[in-house]
Amino acid sequence: MDPNRKPLIAGNWKMHMTAREAADLAAAINKGLDPDLKHDVLLAPSFTGLHAVRAALSGSKIFLSSQDVAWEEKGAFTGAVAPSQLLDAGCSHAIIGHSERRKIFLETDEVINKKVKAALKAGLLPVLCIGETLEERESQKTYRVLETQLTGAYAGIPAADAAKCVIAYEPVWAIGTGKTATPEQAQDAHTFVRKQMERLYGRDFAAAVRILYGGSVKADNVDELMAQPDIDGALVGGESLKADKFLRVIHSACQHAGHGLARIARRSSALAPRAYDARSSEAVLLS
Ligand code: PEP
Repeated sequence: MDPNRKPLIAGNWKMHMTAREAADLAAAINKGLDPDLKHDVLLAPSFTGLHAVRAALSGSKIFLSSQDVAWEEKGAFTGAVAPSQLLDAGCSHAIIGHSERRKIFLETDEVINKKVKAALKAGLLPVLCIGETLEERESQKTYRVLETQLTGAYAGIPAADAAKCVIAYEPVWAIGTGKTATPEQAQDAHTFVRKQMERLYGRDFAAAVRILYGGSVKADNVDELMAQPDIDGALVGGESLKADKFLRVIHSACQHAGHGLARIARRSSALAPRAYDARSSEAVLLS
């Protein structure tokens, strides 16, 4: 990774755990974190676990995220959770456009764009997921898919808002399958994503945006992934469900994230999750 971008390791807990179990896991992760850790950590429990996890993380620097968000502010949308409700529950971030939402819940780029806009309007920081299926990769459509997903997700969003987003490149064929992209495959896709961001918002923007890799990340592969110049962190599913495993991922990822971060850490200090200045972390190089 580029030492000018602050690494982020995010845990997506999907539809697992009761609120109590989620709070216990969050507390164990928080307790086990290296106090000198320079990069950001984010946890995304189910909606029902948000309040309990927030309480368990009281005083911690770990960020809290939802796994989804509604695009409307309030009203007759049974089952949906509004951006303001997520802020109220303690979230600083919202994962948007995860491939499971795209595939199982049929979310389109248009829906994802509405969700990104709604999150930003409310003050939530989107973690935008993109990625190609195996079939798309095998038919040489990876770049086209990524370009379409990015163009769709960012439609009508000005640079100042877009700078608050983190992108997670997650090849669908690598999610929950145990098949990780090779560091070269991941780097190639990340380079392409960064070029697309340059096309959309310019060179300085592209140099500053954080792009995470997701797909069967583990302690024994995170370090070589993070060694790639355009990989700024990881979105982790299965391996984030056990404190010892996730802590090993977080701390293994440190190895390529040491130098240059003190400067960023100074500029983005006091990252208390609930008193959080988006620009201090997401757009530190644009300020
Ligand atoms: C994910 O849920 O976004 C993910 C990458 O899952 P896993 O790490 O289990 O592949």
